[in-house]
Amino acid sequence: MIQCPSCGRRQEPRLTCEQCGAPLGADLDCFAALGLPRRLVIDAAALERAYHELSRKIHPDRFAQAPARVRDASLRSTALLTRGYRTLRDPVARGLYWLELRGEKLADNNKSVPPDLADLVFEVQDELARMRDASGAEAAAIRERALARKAELEAAMGALQDELARNFERWDAGGDAAALLHDLKQTLSRIAYMRTLIRDVDREIGNLKAA
Ligand SMILES: [Zn+2]
Repeated sequence: MIQCPSCGRRQEPRLTCEQCGAPLGADLDCFAALGLPRRLVIDAAALERAYHELSRKIHPDRFAQAPARVRDASLRSTALLTRGYRTLRDPVARGLYWLELRGEKLADNNKSVPPDLADLVFEVQDELARMRDASGAEAAAIRERALARKAELEAAMGALQDELARNFERWDAGGDAAALLHDLKQTLSRIAYMRTLIRDVDREIGNLKAA
């Protein structure tokens, strides 16, 4: 139970007081902060609406004349709401947060390249090395290949994002948590690698342009 800093009512922790609507400054998970059920498939429009509506209700400007404890609660609740919104609106951040809620994280499981990506990672690294050494006409040809490679990696990223969306749907349908957790980690790990590859190819394409 938590006590409202404004009207004093005792209640279960939530974002705003059930009696007077003041921010409670309670420590909540990202879903509870936004008043959303703990589900992985999120309606982006509903999330936007909830965020903007709640932001207005607890905005520090509204409590500028309130006692310090209420102003403090407003600041804490606003920070919590913003963090919750940013975490939930991005599917990858949402997936990582889902792991966190289960006391899991990617880092432990993310030290080696996922086996099915190993060949691709090797190939791209080889191409990147050539790009760094290229000059003149060769550079132009290499740039063409690099742009094609970038498009290919972005398509692969799209497929991984679809895979993530399907994993979310299976969680919400009440699938086997251990299997889903394993798949979720694998997908997020591949996405992390793919992001790095795309970023590296992009950077070298930028360097070629400058040369
Ligand atoms: Zn109250």
